[in-house]
Amino acid sequence: MLFDRDGTLIRDVPYNGDPRLVEPMPGATEALGRLRRADVPVAVVTNQSGVARGLVTPDEMDQVNARVEELLGPFDAWAICVHDDGDGCTCRKPAPGLVIRAAAVLDVSPRDCVVVGDIGRDMAAARAAGARGILVPTKETRPEEIDEAPEVADDLTDVVERVLNDVSEAPVPAAAAPWARAMGWSRW
Ligand SMILES: [Mg+2]
Ligand SMILES: [Zn+2]
Repeated sequence: MLFDRDGTLIRDVPYNGDPRLVEPMPGATEALGRLRRADVPVAVVTNQSGVARGLVTPDEMDQVNARVEELLGPFDAWAICVHDDGDGCTCRKPAPGLVIRAAAVLDVSPRDCVVVGDIGRDMAAARAAGARGILVPTKETRPEEIDEAPEVADDLTDVVERVLNDVSEAPVPAAAAPWARAMGWSRW
């Protein structure tokens, strides 16, 4: 599962470079704990244009991300876009690059990924990568983003309920067997 950072895993403090201001969203700690216990890989896919704009230094961003892991536990992958809209990169959401990159690190197909976010850009990136998108709206989420979302959840607890229910119902793919992984196979 791939999570947006700001407004999804932690409270959105625009262009935050101060680790002391990191505060988990309600239910985040429990949701991630349940996923890890179920052996679901967890990753972060985050736009950090504050770096391109010179509002946050790469070092400050690293410190904030380290604080996120201190509070929420380790993530299996971090995919971060430090560009801005005008840079023409392929990773800044709504582009699919971050989702594709995180999936590659996790050695899964983007089609097997769920992207959780709080705005339309997150859902567009999921769609563009072929992943399932689940929107968890906040007060900042615009009504049209909620209307257009493929799926809307109340909070992270609701997200995890949905995903773990689906996982338990799905057949286990052959390539997910431990021996397949040991052979270096992937589900690409
Ligand atoms: Mg966000
Ligand atoms: Zn980028």
